[in-house]
Amino acid sequence: MKDFQYQALPMRVTFGTGSLKSLPDEVRRLGLRRVLVLSTSFQEDLAREVSDQLGELSAGVHPEAQMHVPVESAHRARDVAKAAGADGYVAVGGGSTTGLGKAIALEFGAPIIAVPTTYAGSEMTPIWGLTAEGEKKTGRDPKVLPTSVIYDPELTLTLPVGMSVTSGFNAIAHAVEALYAPDGSPIISLMAEEGTRALVKALPKIAENPADIEARSDALYGAWLCGATLGATTMSLHHKLCHTLGGTFNLPHAETHTVVLPYALAYNSAHAPEAIAALQRATGAQEPASYLRQLSLDLGAPASLRELGLTDIDVETVVEQATRNPYANPRAVTGDGIRALLTAALNGETV
Ligand code: NAD
Repeated sequence: MKDFQYQALPMRVTFGTGSLKSLPDEVRRLGLRRVLVLSTSFQEDLAREVSDQLGELSAGVHPEAQMHVPVESAHRARDVAKAAGADGYVAVGGGSTTGLGKAIALEFGAPIIAVPTTYAGSEMTPIWGLTAEGEKKTGRDPKVLPTSVIYDPELTLTLPVGMSVTSGFNAIAHAVEALYAPDGSPIISLMAEEGTRALVKALPKIAENPADIEARSDALYGAWLCGATLGATTMSLHHKLCHTLGGTFNLPHAETHTVVLPYALAYNSAHAPEAIAALQRATGAQEPASYLRQLSLDLGAPASLRELGLTDIDVETVVEQATRNPYANPRAVTGDGIRALLTAALNGETV
């Protein structure tokens, strides 16, 4: 057994079909009087239902969450909250909505209750992201960690199959990198293995029948575990590449994670034997990278970065950015190695 440190993150989780009903009690339990409900414009109807359910505890709905959290959107939400006399936030939605809640918490320290509706896992991490003048910055701060999270699988029934699959792969990517993170620990590895196991079993069932509430529950359970592993560890090559691809080339978040993951895992495989052993147990496959690639294709996910809008000429920019600052990764990050990885992902080559 290697030496390790483990720091538990202080948050409360309520999990279960129909658990959204517990939200008013949760608001009271935290001593909040009026909470502003955040959502994207697409999920405004759901946010209004949540607000109605909160009754006098609701300070209203602010349906202006956007991808990549523009700093102006955080300021606007803060102004709306002040005018409405809100003392906390309920973020109902995926990573973009949770991200807006975090951006507000970063600046103004108000507590967030997260009600996730995708598998991205942001609600389990102290990681924030903000975009100012076209540049996305990220960082870690314990004050952006949601105080309480309500996982209600019913809210994921509306997530289209395509997004369910790519969002699920986004979660698996968190677990994969946690398994070889320099600051991993046995408990995080258990969560990563179990989270991956739950998701690879649930995603094909969801693709077959998106209304399968058991499979939806299993996937959300997996997403919880995978998100928690991201919150506890340092990110490596895979997340670094996806961050660059999203930030510099505006490639879609979950789809990019889905395409890159098998290639990043294949790059690291020979240098991360314990991670591979855990993933073999979780997937039942001898070659987890090839297995994940085939699973994503079988479930209809995009097959290449070219399909997502990357071009040959962009590869060098990503290579340059990925190799500029050294960071934790089981295998040395070399220009030639990353160029080969990206070229394979660009063209959707066999893993
Ligand atoms: P998203 O939050 O951007 O959602 C995409 C779209 O799907 C939105 O229009 C949303 O309203 C809609 N949607 C969400 N749930 C739905 C549902 N159940 N039914 C129907 N529509 C639904 O997507 P995402 O992938 O969850 O989040 C991506 C963002 O989260 C990125 O900006 C990423 O950087 C961030 N993220 C952050 C962390 C972190 O730890 N900070 C972790 C993961 C992702």
